[in-house]
Amino acid sequence: MSLLTPAQAESLIEQHLVCLPIESLPLTQAAGAVLRENIYAERDQPPFDRVAMDGIALDSTGAAENAGRLRVAGSQAAGDPPWTLPDTSSCIEIMTGAMLPRDCDAVVPVELVQRNGDIVHVRKPVQPWQNVHRRGSDCRQGSLLLAAGTRLSAPEVAIVAGAGMARVRVSAQPMIAVISTGNELVEPGENIEPHQVRRSNAYGITASLRQHGFARVADDHVRDDEAQLTERLGFHLHTHDVLILSGGVSMGRLDLVPKVLEKLGVSLVFHHIAQRPGKPMWFGVSQSGPAVFALPGNPVSTLVCLARYVLPALRAAMGQAPKDPPRVAITAPVEVKVALAYYLPVKLKTDDWGRTSAEPCPTNGSGDFTALAGTDGFIELPPGPNTFPKGFVARFFRW
Ligand code: AMP
Ligand code: MG
Repeated sequence: MSLLTPAQAESLIEQHLVCLPIESLPLTQAAGAVLRENIYAERDQPPFDRVAMDGIALDSTGAAENAGRLRVAGSQAAGDPPWTLPDTSSCIEIMTGAMLPRDCDAVVPVELVQRNGDIVHVRKPVQPWQNVHRRGSDCRQGSLLLAAGTRLSAPEVAIVAGAGMARVRVSAQPMIAVISTGNELVEPGENIEPHQVRRSNAYGITASLRQHGFARVADDHVRDDEAQLTERLGFHLHTHDVLILSGGVSMGRLDLVPKVLEKLGVSLVFHHIAQRPGKPMWFGVSQSGPAVFALPGNPVSTLVCLARYVLPALRAAMGQAPKDPPRVAITAPVEVKVALAYYLPVKLKTDDWGRTSAEPCPTNGSGDFTALAGTDGFIELPPGPNTFPKGFVARFFRW
């Protein structure tokens, strides 16, 4: 059987995902969450003819008839109920945000008005509706403001608040278990022997998850021991929505993860993708619900597979509308020798005109994660052998 392409792997993951439950959050906690309901305008926006400048409100015809000389009949601040203009030779002192007084049709800003006691003089002709933000000119009551599937950032949270909602229905955050495997791994801060390796992947994965707004993350480490793996993975399958493992999915005698997962009732969806790095990635779904992403342990492979497959899958499980990754041009030619999709770390560069391109930052193989310092993510190049010229446009994935 030929290996899956990244696009095939991606669509298999998508087909096997279960949408996360809905929860209701107060707006102060909604930043970063994904909407699971449509948001409609509570009222017209603006809800009334809104004064857009501090100044005087008047009747434009009256101002012309009186050669711009008007009497100030009163004062109205934002939030005050509206005045009614007593007659066309009068005006009302008015503040930004106030409702336009009845029988007025224009506002002249304070800096264009000469005032002497109760008498003002407007020297320039006044156009009807100048400096008035007309009722309903932004949107109408009941119109769709935000569709389910929208991720809430600052403007969207403000829009929900503007629609009068104190709470909003969003996807619950997935409970994620990050599980590293390997006898050789030692926790940062603990003594290390020459033959041992720092347990860095779990920290990288957790950092990425937090950075992308996934906060409910537990962390565990399991030795390459069948009994321990069975016990710990069994526990995590019962307590989490998503398991992200690193290590133990290759061909070695102690790469026990696939075998243990299948024994625990996690059905294999695929093992291996035609890509470098990250070829041994394993994905399955448990009968009891959780999705299991078992990523290869080499640190570059782990982070690439996480950003390429796991983060988009988590977003989809939250109901977020899919977004095509941005495309960037490479700043130098890249040779791909293997007949596999190729992931190349890059730094994004912006030129004087704001155009973004990707500077290739090759690593010394999939173990060389120190070379990732300062990179922004990676690009996906089609299988080789091929030399992709400078300016070749590829999809970009952020760490
Ligand atoms: P594995 O996928 O378990 O065969 O591991 C491949 C390589 O990645 C080995 O050199 C491991 O030592 C290394 N590795 C596995 N897990 C981690 C981890 N959590 N942190 C750092 N390196 C790891
Ligand atoms: Mg291992």
